[in-house]
Amino acid sequence: MLQSLKEIKILMLQVLFDFLGCIIMDCKKEENKKNCACTYEHCSRKGICCECIAFHRARDEMPACYFTPDGEKEYDRSIAAFIKNYQDNKANRLYKKK
Ligand code: SF4
Repeated sequence: MLQSLKEIKILMLQVLFDFLGCIIMDCKKEENKKNCACTYEHCSRKGICCECIAFHRARDEMPACYFTPDGEKEYDRSIAAFIKNYQDNKANRLYKKK
């Protein structure tokens, strides 16, 4: 829930920057789709990472690629679910960098 006009302005600026980033930079949609961790195949934002992030951030959520494979399949993208998924799996070192 948005609290104030200031928060709305900040959110609008974030979305604008995401949008401009997509225009200025070459979108690598097809390349991104090959590495996308999201199993929701019908999403129109799949491979367009800037839209994916903006969509979930506006809902106080995290994109699929921040979750473990099992956590992602729950389709609960809330920050609370992300924190739980991270804490439950941190010891297993599932967040290894490539
Ligand atoms: S994480 Fe969300 S916005 Fe991104 S591709 Fe999956 S369903 Fe779409």
